[in-house]
Amino acid sequence: MVSRAANSLMVVGVVGAFIGLCVLPSALGDHQDGNLLSVAALLLSLGALSISVGFYMKARFLQKDVRSGKPEPPRKIRGGCDLCRNEPPVIQCKVHQLHLCATCLTGHYDVRSCVYVPSLRRPATKNGKNTAAKAQSV
Ligand SMILES: [Zn+2]
Ligand SMILES: [Zn+2]
Repeated sequence: MVSRAANSLMVVGVVGAFIGLCVLPSALGDHQDGNLLSVAALLLSLGALSISVGFYMKARFLQKDVRSGKPEPPRKIRGGCDLCRNEPPVIQCKVHQLHLCATCLTGHYDVRSCVYVPSLRRPATKNGKNTAAKAQSV
């Protein structure tokens, strides 16, 4: 969709620049038509601008396409990162009780409030609590 928009932008730019180029000789010709010259210059510069914007958009969204086009199913890791659940946690924030992977750590990082320890996450941390609650209710 966006790459189509970029394509049409580039086409418009090429056409505009082409018309500008066509008009330019007659503008610079015998008549010395200042008006036509400025129109030709405008068309040329607008054309060049749209072409470069089109290239820019294409480059940006092409990168995105390549990245999102990768068949990368989300790897749900049990006991993984508390934020994305895709990566094994490398560190734990003691203040917020969050196990974080390296990616989420950079987003979470707050030097004033967070205290980090290496994540030693084990899958069965809640078991003690559950059995205690059960024992009480019985
Ligand atoms: Zn994460
Ligand atoms: Zn924190």
